Amino acid sequence: MQKPSKMIYMDHAATTAVDPRVVEAMLPYFGTRYGNASSIYGLGQEAAKAIDEARRTVADILACQPREVIFTSCGTESDNLALRGVGWARRNLGKGNHIVTSSIEHHAVSHTCEQLEKHFGFETTYLPVDQHGLVDPDDVGRAIKDNTTLISIMYANNEVGTIEPIAEIGQIAREKGVPFHTDAVQAGGTLGLDVNELNVDLLSLSAHKFYGPKGVGVLYVRQGVPLLPTQTGGGHEHNYRAGTENVPYIVGLATALKIAYEELEANNRRIAALRDRLIEGVLGRIVEVALTGHPTNRLPNSASFVFKYIEGESMLLNLDLAGVCASSGSACGSASLEPSHVLLALGIPHEVAHGSLRLTLGRENTTEDVDYVLEILPGIVQKLRAMSPLYKANVMRKT
Ligand code: PLP
Repeated sequence: MQKPSKMIYMDHAATTAVDPRVVEAMLPYFGTRYGNASSIYGLGQEAAKAIDEARRTVADILACQPREVIFTSCGTESDNLALRGVGWARRNLGKGNHIVTSSIEHHAVSHTCEQLEKHFGFETTYLPVDQHGLVDPDDVGRAIKDNTTLISIMYANNEVGTIEPIAEIGQIAREKGVPFHTDAVQAGGTLGLDVNELNVDLLSLSAHKFYGPKGVGVLYVRQGVPLLPTQTGGGHEHNYRAGTENVPYIVGLATALKIAYEELEANNRRIAALRDRLIEGVLGRIVEVALTGHPTNRLPNSASFVFKYIEGESMLLNLDLAGVCASSGSACGSASLEPSHVLLALGIPHEVAHGSLRLTLGRENTTEDVDYVLEILPGIVQKLRAMSPLYKANVMRKT
């Protein structure tokens, strides 16, 4: 099949293109409306008003109070602020030093827990997941001790797309009186974010996952949950996060979130149908491949696989040559040869986890894009397996 003239982007879990309507909403705040929101003259107050409106827009979607919304510089910062901010504040109040989290969290959560353990005297329980990547809410209940100060379980996993039973976990956390944080970075823009329905006390979002700009995020903090700022300075963001507000990016985040929830149903329906076509096509055309994550309870845009006898990175390079952007679950970004901690936590053997491929769809993808990938992928897999000594030893000898 001929290489398409346009690039086919299937890595929306990594980032998304900024929606032109979002760019348009942001532009005045780089230009004529450049004021500092803390200044008392008109130009500053115009910026302050834009931030207030953005905060209200986000609060409406989260069904919370505007003052419970903190703007941050990214999803990573939101996760860091939730864990350190609540961890430190509650420990100071004598509410313990034990954190409960899962073994499949993004490093923004897991590495923060590790640092809290190593340098700040915290203790962490990393809960296991089943073969589909689901956390068992009963495990959360059993892990809570007298000194448990915070629970942090992600809403949807970034590598395998599994959606966690957040409302059930939140109910257990509430009954035990422990604050509950969820990293909703991958869920933002596709799943419901009503913090009361979800029973969450803290929730992280990142704009670049829902067609907003990179470098801006949200941390929702339920009123009454103690949080010590980790970044000190001026009294910005209700004293929770010092630093002159990034007005254009905050406006961009709110505009992107509003568009995502206005168009949610139509986009989810269309994209989930493309995802199913992709999953069925891959499983139907290629042998020795398995879907990773939950078969049905997964993000509408997420298709993730492991291919036996192949390195994920080789697949990515070959897909790139054919004009397709995708990603692998392995930690290629850090030049590590270790396979993904998420796939290992799902019980996938080390050598199989190396052959992971994640295809995440988005608004601009079409049926033709999916069919093109289905057309070229079997050939790429066959070519790479033909070069694999393991494949020759295990499969070709049998046939
Ligand atoms: N949490 C999850 C689940 C993610 O997927 C990501 C980004 O990939 C982050 C946190 C970090 O977000 P940001 O890139 O805005 O720092």
